Amino acid sequence: MLRVAVIGSGPSGVYTAQALVAQDRVPDVRVHVLDRLPCPYGLVRYGVAPDHEKIKSLQNSLRTVLEHERIAFLGNVEVGSDGISPERLGELYDAVVYCVGAATDRPLGIPGEELPGSFSATEFVSWYSAHPDAAAGGFALRARSVVVIGAGNVAVDVTRILARSAQELRPTDVPHGALGTLNGSRVREIHMAGRRGPSQARFTTKELRELGGLPRVRVVVKEAELSLDPAYADPSAHLRPALSSPPNVPPPTAAARRNVEVLRGWAAAGREGAGPDGPPVRTVRLRFFLRPVELLERDGRVAGVRFARTVPDGSGGVRDAGTYEDIGAGLVLRAVGYRGIPLPGLPFDPVRGTVPHLAGRVLRNGVPSPGEYVAGWIKRGPTGVIGSNRSCAKETVTSLLDDAPLLAGRRSASPDPVAALRAYGLRPVEWDGWLSIERAEAALGRSLGRERVKIPDWAGLLSAARSGGPVGA
Ligand code: NAP
Repeated sequence: MLRVAVIGSGPSGVYTAQALVAQDRVPDVRVHVLDRLPCPYGLVRYGVAPDHEKIKSLQNSLRTVLEHERIAFLGNVEVGSDGISPERLGELYDAVVYCVGAATDRPLGIPGEELPGSFSATEFVSWYSAHPDAAAGGFALRARSVVVIGAGNVAVDVTRILARSAQELRPTDVPHGALGTLNGSRVREIHMAGRRGPSQARFTTKELRELGGLPRVRVVVKEAELSLDPAYADPSAHLRPALSSPPNVPPPTAAARRNVEVLRGWAAAGREGAGPDGPPVRTVRLRFFLRPVELLERDGRVAGVRFARTVPDGSGGVRDAGTYEDIGAGLVLRAVGYRGIPLPGLPFDPVRGTVPHLAGRVLRNGVPSPGEYVAGWIKRGPTGVIGSNRSCAKETVTSLLDDAPLLAGRRSASPDPVAALRAYGLRPVEWDGWLSIERAEAALGRSLGRERVKIPDWAGLLSAARSGGPVGA
């Protein structure tokens, strides 16, 4: 029997567990999926926006995997300095696969970044996703104008949540406190700014298009700004990239081409008028070629962002144009990507923010370390869609199975790992505990006249896990 621990129960961890039990090269594989939180599903529960119900419903297929007879979920188990060390885990399991994601946000590294009123998008997402580690004070949303820095899907997510009415979010599992704040939101203008052009934006077309369909939201783009991008100005550049682009310019991807088409449509329609649902309540301004250089301050708080205007450099990047633009804002959300953090006891590449690996095998001093593996964002960096984790997990599992003859019998003749974790002072939340949390969240929703509502704090989650009894909102 091969006993494997998978650390992290987001998509990469669950797909890894699934690949381990679905193969027949090593028939008797038992998998424990450990998570720091008492709840499974990682970013599907705590990162996918609440109004993206279809992607959220992926939890149903992840659940089927975690209910497999040879897989067990163990929540509330921290691996690292405040929990169990990788070294100790290596004594309990034949192999450990780290699927811990990219747990922090990438810094901008500009003056004013730490001013009150400036937050990473991760903090905002954690707040509206009821992550139990979200800052207790939450968000006030008293500012009329918000700047969102970045042109990726996270930037679009936070822009959309700020633009929507609380009424639209009520049927979702957004926590009740956040819903109340969103209901009283004074936000009217959301400026989302990318440092490069529309054809280099990282968001996907479905997410971009969704902004244009929000009730009572007008989306404003500037034709003159979009036209700075050669791939915007000349549609034939999209149709004949190999002919029209210089050899050092990467050809626009199909996604970039579709994004540009959407933006071109909005520019042509001059989206200034009232939408079909009545006069607009909020305006989303999509801006490009603006590189943030400083967060501006007034009375000790953020008052806006100073951007250097940029122009294309001819090879897919930008250079400063020599002029600046200040955009006033009482709230700034920095959505410039995630970053992995080192796990004590595991090697780490500080430049890439990932664990060095060879086809998923952790490399210690450049040499594969049998029994230690990585999958997901901590392996390949924070890119791709949820489905990208499937092939990534498969590659890692193939490496692990190739190593199986080396691994069997590697762990010490240890007792049941769950008992060992308990003896180590940890209090794992098992699958029944998670089902109790689910029931408590359904009951909380009913008591508030809503669908299931997430419990936003550790005490509430743990009390629900242990007893299924009453929990606080
Ligand atoms: P991302 O896709 O890497 O986008 C980061 C954005 O920040 C880019 O526009 C980047 O511009 C910009 N940026 C980076 N450093 C900057 C700086 N110093 N100054 C100004 N701008 C800077 O990251 P993400 O939006 O966090 O998304 C992470 C992953 O999650 C992606 O794979 C994304 O697709 C996925 N995701 C998907 C969904 C969905 O499917 N609905 C939702 C959320 C997240 P440059 O391109 O110029 O570097």
